[in-house]
Amino acid sequence: MSRILIIEDEISIAELEKDYLELSGFEVAIEEDGSRGLEKALSEDFDLLIVDLMLPGTDGFEICRRFREAKNTPIIIISAKKDDIDKIRGLGLGADDYMTKPFSPSEMVARVKAHLARYERLIGSGTPENEVIEIRGLKIDKTARRVWVNGEETAFTTKEFDLLTFLAQNPNHVYTKEELFREIWDMESVGDIATVTVHIKKIREKIEFNTAKPQYIETIWGVGYRFKV
Ligand code: CA
Repeated sequence: MSRILIIEDEISIAELEKDYLELSGFEVAIEEDGSRGLEKALSEDFDLLIVDLMLPGTDGFEICRRFREAKNTPIIIISAKKDDIDKIRGLGLGADDYMTKPFSPSEMVARVKAHLARYERLIGSGTPENEVIEIRGLKIDKTARRVWVNGEETAFTTKEFDLLTFLAQNPNHVYTKEELFREIWDMESVGDIATVTVHIKKIREKIEFNTAKPQYIETIWGVGYRFKV
């Protein structure tokens, strides 16, 4: 999922942008102060920045200039004034696109998508990355269906893998054995909820250091199981 940082002091505009982007499946963070925004942009990994020009702290011009010294992530500049856009263009600060307020949120989303696609082509990561879940010493590669426990690859049966992955990607959620059975085994399969208990036991033997004191899959007595993070 692509992560986008909005640096914008008009919170109603920032929230509007965020809503539209989230509806399109993006993960969005907002920072209202320019200096904190720049710091966040530099210290975390975002796939695109949306930056207002007039900001408290560091303004959009300065954010653009300083960010470009460090990273090539696409930047879309938002400005209240057409003149400022001409100015930033003239300064060659490395923004990839410009929009003037008020703008259409759907057009903004379209531009975000276009810049992300262009940037991905540019960095040319031809093959998509595997989807990996990492929790403490446990690493699950969902794409390759492989599991490592404290760095050591460990074999899991299909159902063990499915059950472990399902729990790990829904952490801190308590599931009953019935729910897990329905989720992992299809309706026609023979067996009952005791199957879940047996599989949990086998998974624990593979991933837990001490099965009597599990650090990953916790038993919630009388209810079911929960993956702890
Ligand atoms: Ca502003």
